[in-house]
Amino acid sequence: MKLNYKFNAKHPVSMLQSKRDIIMKHIFHVHTYRCKHGSNESDEEFIKAALSLGAEKITFTEHCPFPENPFNNRMEIEQLSEYIESLKNLQIKYQGQIQIETGLEVEFLPSMINYYQYLYELNLHPLIIGQHFFQHPDGTFSFDDKDKSDEYIGCCNAMIEGMKTGYFSIVAHPDRFFRRCKKWTQELTDISNKLIATASQYNIILEKNLSSYEKHIEKSHHIFWRKEFWDLVELYNQTTSNPIKTIIGFDAHSTEHMIKRMEYIELLNQKK
Ligand SMILES: [Zn+2]
Ligand SMILES: [Zn+2]
Repeated sequence: MKLNYKFNAKHPVSMLQSKRDIIMKHIFHVHTYRCKHGSNESDEEFIKAALSLGAEKITFTEHCPFPENPFNNRMEIEQLSEYIESLKNLQIKYQGQIQIETGLEVEFLPSMINYYQYLYELNLHPLIIGQHFFQHPDGTFSFDDKDKSDEYIGCCNAMIEGMKTGYFSIVAHPDRFFRRCKKWTQELTDISNKLIATASQYNIILEKNLSSYEKHIEKSHHIFWRKEFWDLVELYNQTTSNPIKTIIGFDAHSTEHMIKRMEYIELLNQKK
């Protein structure tokens, strides 16, 4: 298949090359067209864009399908083997040029515990927790709740339970579950510390999400980035023998996201 790859005109290659000094060698957290809310670009187009950005590694983490496709906005269960196959072929094609990882971004739902084991045994790596909603003890899901003001408690507990299973190595955007909390309170500090301590205990990496950060810098009404949370991680790391590791995630749903978010890394590193 011949691919017609070209950069968006707003991002000429010459401009990108002048940014080489801030370039990340690892493009982590990339989605594909399969989730239905990304661009229509092929998997290979993401790889070519990553190579043009000077990356040595790219990690795909498509939104995880579940049996019988109960949720929207993600790949279908019937597409899972094709997703794996497509990236396997590209690993062969681009061997020696770029390392390609095939992972999934997954909500932790207690009723799916056997399914997570199945995914783990498929050698999908990494499986990352991306908690966008949670499951109540009666089996229902929080996106159907009328009052979502306590959503952060359920999401936090789900992430903690997920970390303990041993199937997941990274938690994506761990600060996003406070999205409905306008004011930071002592209660949010306490629940964050619980999550941070669990991540440390189980050697889980926490993701600093560039999509959340972009919204923060661009003053979006979405409160996805919480500096208060990351300050607590820093504080924790000053007092522990097992500091939390972090990773920067692009959460790219298009090559344009990938390219644009590269620009935010420098700002993020300055802790703005
Ligand atoms: Zn998405
Ligand atoms: Zn994502």
